Amino acid sequence: MAFELPKLPYEYTALEPHIDARTMEIHHSKHHNAYVTNLNAAIAGTDAENLSIEDICKNISKYPMAVRNNGGGHFNHSLFWSILGNNGSKPSAKLQAAIEADLGGMEKLKEDFNKAATTRFGSGWAWLCVEGGKLKICSTPNQDNPLMDVVTDCNGAPIMGLDVWEHAYYLHYQNRRPDYCSAFWSIINWDEVSRRFEAAL
Ligand code: MN
Repeated sequence: MAFELPKLPYEYTALEPHIDARTMEIHHSKHHNAYVTNLNAAIAGTDAENLSIEDICKNISKYPMAVRNNGGGHFNHSLFWSILGNNGSKPSAKLQAAIEADLGGMEKLKEDFNKAATTRFGSGWAWLCVEGGKLKICSTPNQDNPLMDVVTDCNGAPIMGLDVWEHAYYLHYQNRRPDYCSAFWSIINWDEVSRRFEAAL
């Protein structure tokens, strides 16, 4: 069965002014859509057609680079849309306790996550992951992610990710990636991050 572009759970305007509607529209309907189209083409007629995107990522070393790039692109963006939403939510009590115990609190999480995001050279992602029951922060290049068996320095179950490709912010922020990374904290759907955290434990 072919992979499909997921519908956004909100309008393209929903994340304004932090992420502008035009960026959201191009990012979702063009960029993410292209990853889905190219992933489907890359796995057509193979056993991967019957696997989940998570299982493909976990065994990505078995596949050609087109599956790594486009399968990663599909998984990463699907997660990204789900953890955004201008909804004023807060981390669950359990997630908040883990942020304090494992990462030194919310301010330190922001500082370290933004550092991972702003220092990722070129294109890639910053991640909040659960590994061995603990939270950790890391980043990956291109469309790699912490599920992939080829990734050795950033592993675990990703529960929050920030796209730092220029296509994610350039229209509104141009070269000011740090401003985009700061704005991200105003539009996190903590209900979804908390749900993913508890599912990963
Ligand atoms: Mn992107």
